[in-house]
Amino acid sequence: MAHPNINERQSHVKSLLIRGVDITTAIKKELAAIYSCSTSAIHADIIWFTKPHSKHSIYTSSAVRKIVHARDGEICQYCGSETAYEYIVEHVIPAAIGGDARPYNLVIACQSCNIRKGRKVWIPRNLIEITEYHKDWRERVLSLADDTSPNLSVVIELGATGV
Ligand SMILES: [Zn+2]
Repeated sequence: MAHPNINERQSHVKSLLIRGVDITTAIKKELAAIYSCSTSAIHADIIWFTKPHSKHSIYTSSAVRKIVHARDGEICQYCGSETAYEYIVEHVIPAAIGGDARPYNLVIACQSCNIRKGRKVWIPRNLIEITEYHKDWRERVLSLADDTSPNLSVVIELGATGV
């Protein structure tokens, strides 16, 4: 039988997944307590939203694009342009060298940056935000960053904060 809070619970789980939170057993227990359900119900929600090829999956290309557009708006995350003719969803680490089509590896970019970047790795201005829950991925981006990359100050900021 559906719990009255099921929609709220599922959108809560979904929002955590979109932000890239690793839903550990401890977090499952917390959610189960909030929504008066079992941890297996939470687990089922996670499967529902992460199962490949499911129309509910947060990782379908249309869902991911919506997430990236909502997060970055119409601002190129490489040059900061807010007046570009066209914005596209761009892989930070190119797919050709193993970059995932997940929100932590996708940013909004203007066409000009997209063309100039090509298959190089550039540091997006929101790198810290998008990799908040994927610090290993952040390290990978920083280690692969090309000399022509804009936003090298992000590296300095990371160094200064000791992240
Ligand atoms: Zn740009």
